[in-house]
Amino acid sequence: MTDQLTGIANRRRHDLYSIMKWKEATRLQIPFSICMFDIDHFKAYNDTYGHPAGDKVIAAVAQTIKQYLQRTTDFTARYGGEEFVAIILGGEARVNFEYLKKIRQGVEALHIPHKGNVSEWVTISMGGVTVTPHNNEKYADYLKIADNMLYDAKHFGRNQVVWYGGDKEQWREK
Ligand code: GH3
Ligand code: MG
Ligand code: MG
Repeated sequence: MTDQLTGIANRRRHDLYSIMKWKEATRLQIPFSICMFDIDHFKAYNDTYGHPAGDKVIAAVAQTIKQYLQRTTDFTARYGGEEFVAIILGGEARVNFEYLKKIRQGVEALHIPHKGNVSEWVTISMGGVTVTPHNNEKYADYLKIADNMLYDAKHFGRNQVVWYGGDKEQWREK
């Protein structure tokens, strides 16, 4: 259940892990954070630099994300082509948000040239949510919220992080 290109967990492993940990977090009332990542203007990257170069970028971004999420309670997977998902157990919403912003900064700091992006380098957009799940709540619904936050990050100009902290509170920062 390891993704060949990046060496991190694949989507299938994410599906199994998320179900198991969501149940645990519900029972033990542990804050559960979901973060989605997507490389900015990656189609343009492939068009300019070629698909093999694009593959190397996907692997480099995966390693950078993983590097910041090394605790035993952290989990990172390749969710789709150039999309990743992380699950972080424990910690307050704002604390996780502040920490995860470093990943966006870390990817830009790789300084991988990308003409036709919002920055001169390869960047990512991120969307996430923190929740202490109740019995009637579903993981899939919160994954959808994280995806909506990612959509907002793209919409507001990419290369940024949008977080849903609960109670209709949304944070958007670089
Ligand atoms: P946005 O900033 O809105 O995310 O723009 P985008 O171009 O990144 O978004 P879109 O989802 O339209 O395109 C994603 C591209 O990622 C399309 C596809 O060519 C590329 N891609 C997906 N999987 C792979 C892969 O495994 N290798 C490479 N090289 N490219 C991939
Ligand atoms: Mg995408
Ligand atoms: Mg993209």
